[in-house]
Amino acid sequence: MAKKYVYKFSEGNKDMRELLGGKGANLAEMTLAGMPVPQGFTITTEACTQYYTDGKQINADIQAEIAQCMTWLEGENGKKFGDSSDPLLVSVRSGARASMPGMMDTILNLGLNDVAVEGFAAKTGNPRFAYDSYRRFIQMFSDVVMELSKKRFEEIIDEVKAKKGVTQDLDLDADDMKQLSIQFKEFYKKEKGEDFPQDPKVQLMEAVKAVFRSWDNPRANVYRRMNEIPYDWGTAVNVQSMVFGNTGNNSGTGVAFTRNPATGEKALFGEYLINAQGEDVVAGVRTPSPISKLKEEMPEVYTQFAEIANRLEAHYKDMQDMEFTIQDRKLYMLQTRNGKRTAAAALKVAVDLVDEGMISEKEAVLRVEPKQLDALLHPQFDAAALKKAEVIGKGLAASPGAACGRVVFSAEEAKEWHERGEKVILVRLETSPEDIEGMQVAQGILTVRGGMTSHAAVVARGMGTCCVSGCGEIVVNYEKKQFELAGKTYCEGDWISLDGSTGNIYGEAVGTVPADVGSGYFGRLMGWADQYRQLEVYTNADTPKDAAQARKFGAEGIGLCRTEHMFFEGERIKAMREMIVAESESERRKALAKLLPYQQGDFEGIYEAMEGCPVVIRFLDPPLHEFLPTKEADIQEIAGELNITVEKLKNVIASLHEFNPMMGHRGCRLAVSYPEIAEMQTTAVINAAIAVTKKGVYKISPNIMIPLTGEVKELKYVRDIVTSTADKIIKDAGIDMTYEVGTMIEIPRAALTADEIAKEADFFSFGTNDLTQMTFGFSRDDAGKFLNSYYEKKIYESDPFAHLDQTGVGKLVEMAVTLGRKTRPNIHLGICGEHGGDPTSVEFCHGVGLDYVSCSPFRVPIARLAAAQAAIKAPRAK
Ligand code: PEP
Ligand code: MG
Repeated sequence: MAKKYVYKFSEGNKDMRELLGGKGANLAEMTLAGMPVPQGFTITTEACTQYYTDGKQINADIQAEIAQCMTWLEGENGKKFGDSSDPLLVSVRSGARASMPGMMDTILNLGLNDVAVEGFAAKTGNPRFAYDSYRRFIQMFSDVVMELSKKRFEEIIDEVKAKKGVTQDLDLDADDMKQLSIQFKEFYKKEKGEDFPQDPKVQLMEAVKAVFRSWDNPRANVYRRMNEIPYDWGTAVNVQSMVFGNTGNNSGTGVAFTRNPATGEKALFGEYLINAQGEDVVAGVRTPSPISKLKEEMPEVYTQFAEIANRLEAHYKDMQDMEFTIQDRKLYMLQTRNGKRTAAAALKVAVDLVDEGMISEKEAVLRVEPKQLDALLHPQFDAAALKKAEVIGKGLAASPGAACGRVVFSAEEAKEWHERGEKVILVRLETSPEDIEGMQVAQGILTVRGGMTSHAAVVARGMGTCCVSGCGEIVVNYEKKQFELAGKTYCEGDWISLDGSTGNIYGEAVGTVPADVGSGYFGRLMGWADQYRQLEVYTNADTPKDAAQARKFGAEGIGLCRTEHMFFEGERIKAMREMIVAESESERRKALAKLLPYQQGDFEGIYEAMEGCPVVIRFLDPPLHEFLPTKEADIQEIAGELNITVEKLKNVIASLHEFNPMMGHRGCRLAVSYPEIAEMQTTAVINAAIAVTKKGVYKISPNIMIPLTGEVKELKYVRDIVTSTADKIIKDAGIDMTYEVGTMIEIPRAALTADEIAKEADFFSFGTNDLTQMTFGFSRDDAGKFLNSYYEKKIYESDPFAHLDQTGVGKLVEMAVTLGRKTRPNIHLGICGEHGGDPTSVEFCHGVGLDYVSCSPFRVPIARLAAAQAAIKAPRAK
């Protein structure tokens, strides 16, 4: 049998969401439940994908099915499409599987033309209403189907009102409405070079095509990429008989929720407008009345609506967002869906539904979007202030939160201004480890270059600081201390605001309100999540402060402590530089000896902050040139500090230059060349563990992680240095202490030879930042520059540095898991790349059987919830 592309509402149900889209499936479900739904049909999501397969054409078979259903709908209503005395009118609306802003929304009153409008006026005895409906249709069709500018239509309305000396649409009479429709059609003809389409069948087919087209518009594509909605899902189209909220004062239209979507409070919440149609409620031209007023205005309609709302919530077992129309005091339901809500409301509704006996704890855990939790952990913009603010640019939403401060262009200035009590936003072309102190004191960080795993993004997420990265439109002039964006110049000291959750940049101060983590709902829901999850959740933290923050958010250990970040402050960087310029091993050892106490102190602080939980300390990873200056003035100054000639320092810098530093002398390769670095770091780790253990509160068992391994022999070489150093210290201390030495799997060769590598590794931690860059062969710092073309051309649907590429990189992870366990069945397996805090990647990690995920402190709650959802959806055998 040929595939069916069109379903009457009476033929579907709520479980057919994939085929009918959310709106279509719910209209079918309400029809099944005997609710007052104007009848209609849904053109499936498969018809949409077929439209694209056929080269953006609706093929003859699908057209025939639509025509057949139209004939059926005419019969149902006892009216004909395009009829000159009593025409059938329909609405056309998009409806994807997941609700998707950015797509074409609604066309109302389709089917009207110059002849039908007269019949409609005669039949209803209400010419004003008929012409109001017609002019609205021309307006909507021109805007959403033909993409003509909305503005001109609004101007025409204003001109007609001005001529008549009135200000409200409601003051326009039938003749004025007719006049509007004539002027709208004239504008249409002028712009399109043809008459406004009069044939309702043409109108319908064009509207359906416009819905399909809107699936591929830039706004929808951006939304899909952010929310990982596959392009091949397609959207459905709903064609529904019109009911009218604009026939007079006994009619109206509105939107309502079964609970308050901002707070979660259990009470009908919404608004409506009398004598109005669809868009009027949201357009803001007239002020709608709260739904409670309907109780006074039309008590019988209110009672019926409240009863339906209750039934729908009980049926879907979730807060509903409903659209309705009242035509001559008769209620019609136009849509119901699970309502979008704030994070705070999501938690309250989920917990309340459990308390009300509607859903189980597991269902409650599945109800909250993990990414949403983020909003509760960072300061947020004051909603009213944000609404008024103007967006001047957009970058990547690299680290969430709301930041408002004065522009500075260097880390030093950030520190100075901060010390004077100023709030600052650090604006840089890109950041480097040298900027760390400035980043620490900034409210937010804005960079011109760099993707989701650029230095700025990773470090900012770790600190929980708001960051917008990679805004290529900004032109920075460091000399003049100014930048240009959207045709304006912003100077040092000017106020700007950043939204790290959307990437939006505002050229003014937008007020913020503090984070709300105090709510008991958060604790209860997360308690359930912890009960059901099977993955452990660790954090990536380099300082006691970050570690303590992560503990508060529920981290059960540190999966990655990047030791290089500890070498940048004050005296340490000097000792580090001494080590780098040293000409002999003994000179190097002298400099390393200066670093040892700092490192040991840091590790002790971290062990204490983690209260005895596991801490994985990774040895030095970046290439050494990152610790050396680049600017002439700095080179001069530092040569002086190090007591060497400028020439010598320049020679060292030149000798460390690499064409591909990311693939250069870094990671365990440093320890192979300079084993004394690994020796010093081992000494610091073990001494710190002994010191803390001796205090008698926690018994520390250190975990040392070797980065960038690609070959088992190099791992063995470094491991031997670690074990011989550690064993000696432990023996000398006369203490009973165990420790583990593991490695990162972040080079494809390590994954491919994981059975070999496992011989020398007690644990693996997947470094999917590097593993992604090395597998794809593009740089994590530069890929942002060209990935947009790949999204536009649908080659990649999402950023592989943000969401793990499960097909390619994931295959390497899976392979390494299997091979590693073959050699060492109890090997501890985790992930510490940025993907460890990304919900779909966490689900993948659960699926392939990792033991833990590790992510930045502020993503710990997100990972806990994502891990619980993965376990509830597909529990794995322990
Ligand atoms: C990684 O490569 O995934 C990783 C965690 O290490 P880094 O980001 O420090 O290279
Ligand atoms: Mg790495």
